[in-house]
Amino acid sequence: MHLSARHFKKGEFAREWSGAESEAIIQTLAKRPHPWHAQLMEVVEATPDFVAIMDNDGWLHYLNRAGRAMLGLSDSEEVCGLHLEDCHPEDESCRLLNEAFPAALREGVWHGESAIKAANGHSINVSQVVLAHAKPDGKNTMFSTIARDITERKHFVEELRRQTTHDALTGLPNRIVLAEHLDMELARTQRGRMHAAVILLDLDNFKRINDSLGHEAGNELLRNVALRLKGCLRSNDIIVRYGDDEFTVVVGELHSAENLLPVMHKLRAALEQPVPVAGQEVFVGFSAGISFFPNDGSAPLELLQNADAALYRAKSSGRNQYQFYEPEMNARGQELLALETDLRRAIEREEFVLHYQPQFHLCAGRIAGFEALLRWRHPARGLMPPADFVPMLEETGLIVPVSEWVLRRACEESRKLRDSGGAPAPVSVNVSARHFSDHRLVDELRRILRDVAMPPEDLELEITESTLMQDVQTAGEILAALDGIGVRLAIDDFGTGYSSLAYLKRFPLNALKIDRVFIQDLPWEDNCATLTEASISLGHKLGLDVIAEGVETAKQVQFLRAHGCDMIQGHYIGRPMPLDEAARFAKGIRKSPEETAA
Ligand code: C2E
Ligand code: MG
Ligand code: MG
Repeated sequence: MHLSARHFKKGEFAREWSGAESEAIIQTLAKRPHPWHAQLMEVVEATPDFVAIMDNDGWLHYLNRAGRAMLGLSDSEEVCGLHLEDCHPEDESCRLLNEAFPAALREGVWHGESAIKAANGHSINVSQVVLAHAKPDGKNTMFSTIARDITERKHFVEELRRQTTHDALTGLPNRIVLAEHLDMELARTQRGRMHAAVILLDLDNFKRINDSLGHEAGNELLRNVALRLKGCLRSNDIIVRYGDDEFTVVVGELHSAENLLPVMHKLRAALEQPVPVAGQEVFVGFSAGISFFPNDGSAPLELLQNADAALYRAKSSGRNQYQFYEPEMNARGQELLALETDLRRAIEREEFVLHYQPQFHLCAGRIAGFEALLRWRHPARGLMPPADFVPMLEETGLIVPVSEWVLRRACEESRKLRDSGGAPAPVSVNVSARHFSDHRLVDELRRILRDVAMPPEDLELEITESTLMQDVQTAGEILAALDGIGVRLAIDDFGTGYSSLAYLKRFPLNALKIDRVFIQDLPWEDNCATLTEASISLGHKLGLDVIAEGVETAKQVQFLRAHGCDMIQGHYIGRPMPLDEAARFAKGIRKSPEETAA
C-alpha cells in the first residue's frame, strides 16, 4: 500500500493524528474529554466493523483494528497518510467524497452500500455510515465512518434470487426471468429494427420415458436435454424451463425470419444422438411452435400464446415437427379450447355412444364379431367421429376414463349382439396407447368381465402396431398379463408402423388387422397387393387370424378370398352402426359376403 509523507509512527490514538487539522481535532476533544474515553476506544478497537476518522479531504486520521485487517495492514503500521482512495475502489471513494460527505454535512449522517478494497485485491461489500462532526465553532472539520462487511448477506440475497428465478432441476432460468428477458430483448430488437423468435419446445416421448424408467430417470433426461439445448444458443439468447417437459427459447437480433432456420437445425441436431439416462440410451425428439416479433405480436404474452398455438398444431400433425404461427391458428385454438371444455363434460352427460361394425368370416360365411367404435354425440355439432376428438382425449389424459367407459359399455352391449345373432359374436375394443400402458388396465378388465359375467374369449382388444412397437419390452409384459386373463389380442392398423418380426413372434397375439390403406387400392396397385399377400402369409405363419380392414368392393373381396384372408371388415359388409341396428344386422346375415352386401 502506498503511504504518503503523512505516514506517522505508531503511537497512541491521539498521537497518530498530525498536521494542523489533527491538532485542531485533538484540541477539540481535549477540551471536553469524555469520562469513558478509554473504554470507548477499547470498544471501537474490538468491533469487527471498519471504523475510521477522516478529514474534509478524505485523509485518514484513525483506523481501528478491524479496518486494518480488512486493508491488510499490521497493527504496527501507521494510517495517517492513507487516503479514502486507499480504502475504497475508485468509484466508491469518489461517491463518498462527492455524495456521502456533503450529505453528512447537510444532515449529520449518510448511509448506503459501498465497498472496501481488500488486501487480496477483491472488494468487500459493506453497509456504511458516514457521520459529520462539528467543531464547537460550527465548522465541520472531520468525518467518521463505520462500515460492516455484508458479503454473506449479499451471497444470501443472490442465492435467494437465484432460487426464485431458476429451475432447481435443470438450473435454467424460469418464467420470471423469461418475462424480464423478453421485455428487454423486444426493446433491443425494436431499436435495431430486427426480428426476434419465441420458440416453445415440448419433448415428444417424455411421458413414456418417465412412466417406464421412473421419475429419477425422467429428471436426469430433463437435465441432459437442458444442457444440450443450452449449448446450441448464443450468449444473448435464452432458454427457460417453461413447464414439465416444455422449454422456451428466445432468439433475438435476427435480420429475417429465415435466419432462425440454422438455430432450429442446431436444436434438432443436439438431440439426434441418444441421451444417456439411467444407464441406458434413449432417443428423444421435440415438437416446437414458433412466433416472431414483431409480425406475430408486439407483447411477450401475445408471442408466447401464439407460439403455444403453433406448438399445438405441430403436436397434432405428428411428432418431431415444428410449426410457425399463422393467424388462423388462434381461431382454431379457441375452438379447440371450447371443445375441450365440452369433452370434459361428455362422460357425465352420457354423450358418448358406441357403434358396431361387423366383421365377416369368409370361409365360414358368418359374422365373426363386431368392432366397437366410439362416437361423440355433441349437442351442437352432431355425431363426431373419433378422429375429431380422440387426439384431444389423449392430450388431456381423459382417454383413460373414456377408454374404461368404452370397455365396460362394449362388454355390457355385447350380450345383446350375441343373443340376437344366435351364433357367438365376440366384440373388439380399441385400446389407446395411454390406456394400454396404464397399470390399472389388467385389474380393471378382470373386474369388468366379472361384473358383466362375460367369457374372456368373447372380448378382443385391438392394439395398434405403433403402440406395440413403441416399447416392445413393456408391451410384451402387458400383453402377457392380458393373455393371462384369457382375452383375445389383435394387432390393429398392421403395415402402418414398423414391426419387429422377432417381437411379433413372441407376442401372444390372436389376430392381425391389415390397415385400410393397403386394402383400398386392391387389386390394382401392385405394391398394395404384394404387401397384403405378404401380410396374410406372415399372419398365418405366426398362427394368427388375418382380418382385412376397409373392404369396400367385391373385387377386393375376391382378391382377399383368393389369398386366403380369414375375415373382412368394411363398408362392403356393413358400416359402423348403432347397437339396435347391429343386432338386426346380425339376424339378417347371409352365407356369402356378396349376398350380405346386396
Ligand atoms: P380402427 O380401429 O382402424 O377402426 C376402423 C376405422 O375404419 C373406423 O373409423 C371405421 O369406421 C373405418 N372403416 C371401416 N370400414 C371402412 C371402409 O370400408 N371404408 C372406409 N373409408 N373406412 C372404413 P372410425 O370409427 O372413424 O375410427 C377411426 C379410429 O379411431 C379407429 O381406427 C380407432 O383407431 C380409433 N377409435 C375408434 N373407437 C375408439 C375407441 O373406442 N377407443 C380408442 N382408443 N380409439 C378408437
Ligand atoms: Mg380398430
Ligand atoms: Mg385399424
